[in-house]
Amino acid sequence: QRSSPCQPEFYQATEEILQSIYPLLDKNPHYLQQNIVERIVEPERQIMFRVVWQDDEGKVQVNKGYRVQFSSTLGPYKGGIRFHPSVNASTIKFLGFEQIFKNALTGLSLGGGKGGSDFDPKNRSDNEVMRFCQAFMTELYRHIGATIDVPAGDIGVSQREIGYLFGQYKRLNRHFEGVLTGKALNWGGSLVRPEATGYGLVYFTENMLQANDDCLDSKKCLVSGAGNVAIHTIEKLYQCGALPITCSDSTGTIHHAKGIDLILLRELKEERRGSLIEYLDSHPDAEFIPRKNYPNDGHAVWRIKAEAAFPCATQNELSEADAKALCQNGITCIVEGANMPCTAEAQALILAAGIHYAPSKAANAGGVATSQLEMAQNAGMIQWSFAEVDQRLQTVMKDIYQRCAETAIEFHQPSNLMLGANIAGFRKVADAMLEQGLV
Ligand code: NDP
Repeated sequence: QRSSPCQPEFYQATEEILQSIYPLLDKNPHYLQQNIVERIVEPERQIMFRVVWQDDEGKVQVNKGYRVQFSSTLGPYKGGIRFHPSVNASTIKFLGFEQIFKNALTGLSLGGGKGGSDFDPKNRSDNEVMRFCQAFMTELYRHIGATIDVPAGDIGVSQREIGYLFGQYKRLNRHFEGVLTGKALNWGGSLVRPEATGYGLVYFTENMLQANDDCLDSKKCLVSGAGNVAIHTIEKLYQCGALPITCSDSTGTIHHAKGIDLILLRELKEERRGSLIEYLDSHPDAEFIPRKNYPNDGHAVWRIKAEAAFPCATQNELSEADAKALCQNGITCIVEGANMPCTAEAQALILAAGIHYAPSKAANAGGVATSQLEMAQNAGMIQWSFAEVDQRLQTVMKDIYQRCAETAIEFHQPSNLMLGANIAGFRKVADAMLEQGLV
């Protein structure tokens, strides 16, 4: 904390990992002798830059840009770019740190990184978003490349932003290469990439429940968020026979006991980019809980009775009081779609309650895994079918589940997938670092 002051999210992410890996360090003192922990918490490189662009009124706007290249031990840096007003050095650093272990868990050759800006694309015209993306890439392009660092989307960065970023990258250095993932299908994107994080989340859940003689069929599910991850989670939950009854955005929460109208949700958020309150225009029988009416100690969505919960919006969106309410309402599993959506206190309570708990670095790794499949297709100048990519995604998610579950058993906490994920991810990176010498 002394060397990186005021980075609460980053401390939270590092504390979770460090607490989990004690049993591994106890058994393997060479990691400490070789200072692996001190090395791994320090990014290889952090880039911060000014982004200057012009809005539609001709006013000059200034934002901050970030790219944290945390670890290239297992492959090129890989991790999304987030555009949201809350972005700061701590957010990007925690996301980059988590990404190292998530990518390790996929079993693919991917290092860890993350980037972003405090730019808010909301209520900006397409032209403004394009000019911002061009200005952002005008600095970023010198630090990335198809075998160096391959960013993707995240909050506020969808296919539209990836397109503008890619266009500027190509203009600046003339390479048509797989430097970004999440591209549109007709110029290098992969089938299933848009769906991959949400679908992967549900595949992970099915593996976890199956191992405990349970399944998703007929389960009422709470989902937070209304973006890429939430929408595709809801879609796959329906395909598995479950009933997703909520979604949320930055303005409030929708509770629709009959089940979320997915077609309407997509139209509202993907096409109109509107607020969830408009959902009521088509479904007056649904309830909209505005953000101002949320409980002081948490989020309205977690106070609704259901059997499974999928936080898919943002970090620390599920508090200790929320976790308590979920447990009291008989929740059987909590699966993290967003990165670090549960506070440390909520996590402790969930683990103590013995609920099936899938940590984000394992459960939401389907997105980055499919990004690697996009990179592989780009490098081979080929395109795989939807069924082929989906099959590979299912295999990756099954393998991740097994890796976490087997490691949890090895360290005598069989149901603690958080411990399993943290130890398995850390051990893979640490061993590779030792093999690569003083890196
Ligand atoms: P999107 O931008 O598509 O959607 C984010 C959703 O969450 C929106 O509905 C947004 O509301 C809501 N939201 C964001 N920030 C807040 C906040 N501070 N308070 C309340 N609501 C908020 O992002 P994604 O779906 O891509 O990402 C969601 C989460 O999943 C993030 O944690 C991300 O890091 C993680 N993730 C994403 C992956 C991907 O492939 N996209 C891969 C792995 C993890 P509004 O609509 O009002 O803006």
